[in-house]
Amino acid sequence: MLNLILFGPPGCGKGTQSARIANRYKLVHLSTGELFREEFRKGTQLGKDVIHFMKNGLLIPDPVVLKKLYRVASQYAHVPGLVFDGFPRTLNQAVVLDKMLDKKGIPISIVFCMVVDEEELINRMLNRGEDSGRLDDNEEIIHKRMDVYRNHTRLLKDYYGNQQKISYISGMAPVKVVSERIAQVVEYFLKTKEILTRAGLTHG
Ligand code: ADP
Repeated sequence: MLNLILFGPPGCGKGTQSARIANRYKLVHLSTGELFREEFRKGTQLGKDVIHFMKNGLLIPDPVVLKKLYRVASQYAHVPGLVFDGFPRTLNQAVVLDKMLDKKGIPISIVFCMVVDEEELINRMLNRGEDSGRLDDNEEIIHKRMDVYRNHTRLLKDYYGNQQKISYISGMAPVKVVSERIAQVVEYFLKTKEILTRAGLTHG
Protein backbone atom coordinates (compact mmCIF):
# COMPACT_ATOMS: atom_id res chain seq x y z
CA MET A 1 0.00 0.00 0.00
CA LEU A 2 1.33 3.38 -1.03
CA ASN A 3 -0.50 6.39 0.41
CA LEU A 4 0.70 9.76 -0.79
CA ILE A 5 -0.30 13.32 0.05
CA LEU A 6 0.32 16.17 -2.38
CA PHE A 7 0.35 19.35 -0.47
CA GLY A 8 0.97 23.00 -1.34
CA PRO A 9 -0.65 26.37 -2.01
CA PRO A 10 -3.47 26.77 -4.50
CA GLY A 11 -2.14 26.76 -8.05
CA CYS A 12 1.03 24.80 -7.21
CA GLY A 13 0.08 22.00 -9.60
CA LYS A 14 -0.93 19.37 -7.04
CA GLY A 15 -4.02 18.37 -9.05
CA THR A 16 -2.00 17.79 -12.21
CA GLN A 17 0.80 15.95 -10.42
CA SER A 18 -1.59 13.86 -8.31
CA ALA A 19 -3.31 12.61 -11.46
CA ARG A 20 0.02 11.75 -13.12
CA ILE A 21 1.48 9.96 -10.10
CA ALA A 22 -1.78 8.05 -9.50
CA ASN A 23 -1.75 6.92 -13.12
CA ARG A 24 1.91 5.86 -12.97
CA TYR A 25 1.55 3.73 -9.81
CA LYS A 26 -2.08 2.64 -10.34
CA LEU A 27 -3.28 4.49 -7.27
CA VAL A 28 -6.62 6.21 -6.73
CA HIS A 29 -6.54 10.00 -7.01
CA LEU A 30 -8.68 11.55 -4.31
CA SER A 31 -9.20 15.31 -4.73
CA THR A 32 -11.59 16.73 -2.14
CA GLY A 33 -12.03 19.92 -4.20
CA GLU A 34 -13.00 17.85 -7.24
CA LEU A 35 -15.35 15.64 -5.18
CA PHE A 36 -17.21 18.72 -3.95
CA ARG A 37 -17.24 20.40 -7.39
CA GLU A 38 -18.81 17.19 -8.72
CA GLU A 39 -21.51 17.32 -6.03
CA PHE A 40 -22.28 20.88 -7.11
CA ARG A 41 -22.38 19.95 -10.81
CA LYS A 42 -24.79 17.11 -10.01
CA GLY A 43 -27.00 19.53 -8.07
CA THR A 44 -27.00 17.51 -4.83
CA GLN A 45 -27.86 18.98 -1.44
CA LEU A 46 -24.24 18.54 -0.36
CA GLY A 47 -23.12 20.51 -3.42
CA LYS A 48 -25.53 23.30 -2.55
CA ASP A 49 -24.34 23.29 1.07
CA VAL A 50 -20.65 23.70 0.20
CA ILE A 51 -20.66 25.98 -2.83
CA HIS A 52 -20.77 29.13 -0.71
CA PHE A 53 -17.46 28.16 0.96
CA MET A 54 -15.79 27.19 -2.32
CA LYS A 55 -16.91 30.27 -4.22
CA ASN A 56 -15.50 32.45 -1.46
CA GLY A 57 -12.21 30.59 -1.06
CA LEU A 58 -13.07 29.45 2.47
CA LEU A 59 -12.53 26.05 4.01
CA ILE A 60 -15.51 23.72 4.00
CA PRO A 61 -16.13 22.83 7.70
CA ASP A 62 -14.19 19.79 8.90
CA PRO A 63 -17.23 17.61 9.80
CA VAL A 64 -18.58 17.96 6.24
CA VAL A 65 -15.21 17.18 4.65
CA LEU A 66 -14.51 14.25 6.96
CA LYS A 67 -17.93 12.68 6.43
CA LYS A 68 -17.41 12.79 2.67
CA LEU A 69 -13.90 11.41 3.02
CA TYR A 70 -15.02 8.45 5.15
CA ARG A 71 -17.69 7.60 2.64
CA VAL A 72 -15.37 7.77 -0.36
CA ALA A 73 -12.37 6.09 1.30
CA SER A 74 -14.50 3.10 2.34
CA GLN A 75 -15.18 2.43 -1.37
CA TYR A 76 -11.43 2.12 -1.94
CA ALA A 77 -10.53 -0.28 0.87
CA HIS A 78 -8.83 -2.73 -1.55
CA VAL A 79 -6.90 -0.48 -3.92
CA PRO A 80 -3.05 -0.43 -4.03
CA GLY A 81 -3.02 3.06 -2.53
CA LEU A 82 -4.39 6.58 -2.53
CA VAL A 83 -3.11 9.97 -3.59
CA PHE A 84 -4.68 12.66 -1.42
CA ASP A 85 -4.94 16.00 -3.23
CA GLY A 86 -6.21 19.03 -1.30
CA PHE A 87 -6.69 16.92 1.82
CA PRO A 88 -5.85 17.22 4.67
CA ARG A 89 -6.08 21.01 4.84
CA THR A 90 -6.36 21.52 8.60
CA LEU A 91 -4.53 20.00 11.54
CA ASN A 92 -7.74 18.32 12.65
CA GLN A 93 -8.20 16.70 9.22
CA ALA A 94 -4.59 15.44 9.37
CA VAL A 95 -5.02 13.92 12.82
CA VAL A 96 -8.30 12.21 11.84
CA LEU A 97 -6.74 10.86 8.64
CA ASP A 98 -3.77 9.43 10.56
CA LYS A 99 -6.11 7.73 13.04
CA MET A 100 -8.21 6.28 10.23
CA LEU A 101 -5.17 4.93 8.35
CA ASP A 102 -3.38 3.69 11.48
CA LYS A 103 -6.43 1.64 12.41
CA LYS A 104 -6.12 -0.11 9.06
CA GLY A 105 -2.32 -0.40 9.36
CA ILE A 106 -1.76 1.59 6.16
CA PRO A 107 -0.13 4.88 7.18
CA ILE A 108 0.79 7.79 4.93
CA SER A 109 4.00 6.94 3.07
CA ILE A 110 5.20 10.33 1.77
CA VAL A 111 3.91 13.90 1.95
CA PHE A 112 5.03 15.93 -1.06
CA CYS A 113 5.13 19.65 -0.34
CA MET A 114 5.17 21.57 -3.60
CA VAL A 115 6.92 24.91 -3.58
CA VAL A 116 6.14 27.63 -6.15
CA ASP A 117 6.75 31.43 -6.15
CA GLU A 118 3.68 33.40 -5.14
CA GLU A 119 3.68 35.53 -8.32
CA GLU A 120 3.76 32.39 -10.47
CA LEU A 121 0.90 30.85 -8.45
CA ILE A 122 -1.33 33.86 -9.04
CA ASN A 123 -0.55 33.96 -12.77
CA ARG A 124 -1.28 30.27 -13.15
CA MET A 125 -4.66 30.54 -11.43
CA LEU A 126 -5.65 33.63 -13.39
CA ASN A 127 -4.75 31.87 -16.66
CA ARG A 128 -6.56 28.70 -15.59
CA GLY A 129 -9.62 30.72 -14.64
CA GLU A 130 -10.02 31.91 -18.23
CA ASP A 131 -11.04 28.47 -19.44
CA SER A 132 -11.58 26.24 -16.38
CA GLY A 133 -14.84 27.91 -15.42
CA ARG A 134 -13.78 27.58 -11.78
CA LEU A 135 -15.65 30.17 -9.76
CA ASP A 136 -12.74 30.58 -7.33
CA ASP A 137 -10.05 31.38 -9.94
CA ASN A 138 -10.47 35.16 -9.87
CA GLU A 139 -8.14 37.70 -8.32
CA GLU A 140 -10.06 38.52 -5.14
CA ILE A 141 -10.77 34.89 -4.24
CA ILE A 142 -7.26 33.76 -5.18
CA HIS A 143 -5.88 36.11 -2.50
CA LYS A 144 -8.36 34.73 0.04
CA ARG A 145 -7.34 31.14 -0.78
CA MET A 146 -3.68 32.10 -0.32
CA ASP A 147 -4.52 33.60 3.10
CA VAL A 148 -6.35 30.43 4.11
CA TYR A 149 -3.31 28.42 3.02
CA ARG A 150 -0.95 30.64 5.03
CA ASN A 151 -3.13 30.62 8.16
CA HIS A 152 -4.32 27.01 8.27
CA THR A 153 -2.91 24.56 5.79
CA ARG A 154 0.73 25.64 6.03
CA LEU A 155 0.75 24.43 9.66
CA LEU A 156 0.69 20.89 8.33
CA LYS A 157 4.31 21.26 7.28
CA ASP A 158 5.31 21.00 10.94
CA TYR A 159 2.90 18.16 11.60
CA TYR A 160 4.28 15.97 8.82
CA GLY A 161 7.80 17.36 9.30
CA ASN A 162 7.76 15.96 12.84
CA GLN A 163 6.79 12.59 11.39
CA GLN A 164 9.73 12.90 8.94
CA LYS A 165 7.45 12.28 6.01
CA ILE A 166 7.84 15.52 4.06
CA SER A 167 9.60 15.69 0.74
CA TYR A 168 9.91 19.19 -0.75
CA ILE A 169 9.48 19.42 -4.51
CA SER A 170 9.92 22.54 -6.61
CA GLY A 171 6.81 23.01 -8.69
CA MET A 172 8.48 25.64 -10.88
CA ALA A 173 9.86 23.16 -13.43
CA PRO A 174 7.88 21.81 -16.43
CA VAL A 175 5.11 19.32 -15.57
CA LYS A 176 7.06 16.24 -16.74
CA VAL A 177 10.19 17.21 -14.82
CA VAL A 178 8.19 17.69 -11.60
CA SER A 179 6.55 14.27 -12.13
CA GLU A 180 9.97 12.64 -12.55
CA ARG A 181 11.23 14.20 -9.32
CA ILE A 182 8.19 12.94 -7.44
CA ALA A 183 8.60 9.47 -8.97
CA GLN A 184 12.27 9.35 -7.91
CA VAL A 185 11.26 9.89 -4.28
CA VAL A 186 8.54 7.23 -4.58
CA GLU A 187 11.05 4.75 -6.09
CA TYR A 188 13.49 5.40 -3.26
CA PHE A 189 10.72 4.86 -0.70
CA LEU A 190 9.62 1.58 -2.35
CA LYS A 191 13.18 0.28 -2.57
CA THR A 192 13.91 1.10 1.07
CA LYS A 193 10.67 -0.54 2.14
CA GLU A 194 11.54 -3.68 0.16
CA ILE A 195 14.98 -3.93 1.77
CA LEU A 196 13.55 -3.42 5.27
CA THR A 197 10.80 -5.97 4.63
CA ARG A 198 13.31 -8.55 3.39
CA ALA A 199 15.38 -7.94 6.50
CA GLY A 200 12.26 -8.50 8.61
CA LEU A 201 12.39 -4.96 9.95
CA THR A 202 8.89 -3.84 8.94
CA HIS A 203 5.44 -5.35 8.75
CA GLY A 204 4.64 -4.13 5.32
P1 ADP B 1 -6.98 24.73 -4.71
O1 ADP B 1 -6.02 23.96 -3.89
O2 ADP B 1 -6.42 25.22 -6.02
O3 ADP B 1 -7.64 25.85 -3.95
P2 ADP B 1 -9.01 22.57 -4.53
O4 ADP B 1 -9.78 21.97 -5.65
O5 ADP B 1 -8.11 21.68 -3.75
O6 ADP B 1 -8.19 23.79 -5.19
O7 ADP B 1 -10.03 23.27 -3.49
C1 ADP B 1 -11.01 24.17 -3.89
C2 ADP B 1 -11.88 24.57 -2.70
O8 ADP B 1 -12.57 23.40 -2.19
C3 ADP B 1 -11.17 25.15 -1.49
O9 ADP B 1 -10.93 26.54 -1.60
C4 ADP B 1 -12.18 24.82 -0.36
O10 ADP B 1 -13.27 25.72 -0.38
C5 ADP B 1 -12.71 23.46 -0.78
N1 ADP B 1 -11.94 22.32 -0.20
C6 ADP B 1 -11.30 21.36 -0.90
N2 ADP B 1 -10.70 20.48 -0.08
C7 ADP B 1 -10.98 20.89 1.18
C8 ADP B 1 -10.63 20.39 2.48
N3 ADP B 1 -9.86 19.30 2.64
N4 ADP B 1 -11.10 21.07 3.57
C9 ADP B 1 -11.86 22.17 3.45
N5 ADP B 1 -12.22 22.69 2.25
C10 ADP B 1 -11.78 22.06 1.12
